[in-house]
Amino acid sequence: MAVIIGDTCINCAACIDECPVEAIVDEDDNPTGEEYYYVYPDKCVECVDHFDSPACAEACPTEGCITWDMPFTADHKDHFSGDNYIDGQAYVMDDADAVMPTRDDISIEDRQNRENVVDD
Ligand code: SF4
Ligand code: SF4
Repeated sequence: MAVIIGDTCINCAACIDECPVEAIVDEDDNPTGEEYYYVYPDKCVECVDHFDSPACAEACPTEGCITWDMPFTADHKDHFSGDNYIDGQAYVMDDADAVMPTRDDISIEDRQNRENVVDD
């Protein structure tokens, strides 16, 4: 990761086709079982080398729905192996060994606090 979609998601579909790497799935395919959209942390590239900022969050009409999460890098894999998903569930990944691009200008503190990706 990356970014994370929270439970204020209204399943509007505005984000899914904006993702350049198909990291987002809808509520029917959310592997955690939650009934809202999900970002695979092992697929999200934070839109690095694609856009100036995360396209999903730019498209999302729900303020605060898409927030920063920890980088999906070797140093932070514990975050994704624990119960740190929105309401204490585990994340689900296709490739837990992946190492993904991350935006260095976003602080770890902001990521831990799940600050909004886009401030309206
Ligand atoms: S930040 Fe970019 S790569 Fe990540 S889920 Fe959103 S649109 Fe996809
Ligand atoms: S754009 Fe926002 S509210 Fe709409 S499906 Fe995506 S995350 Fe959910």
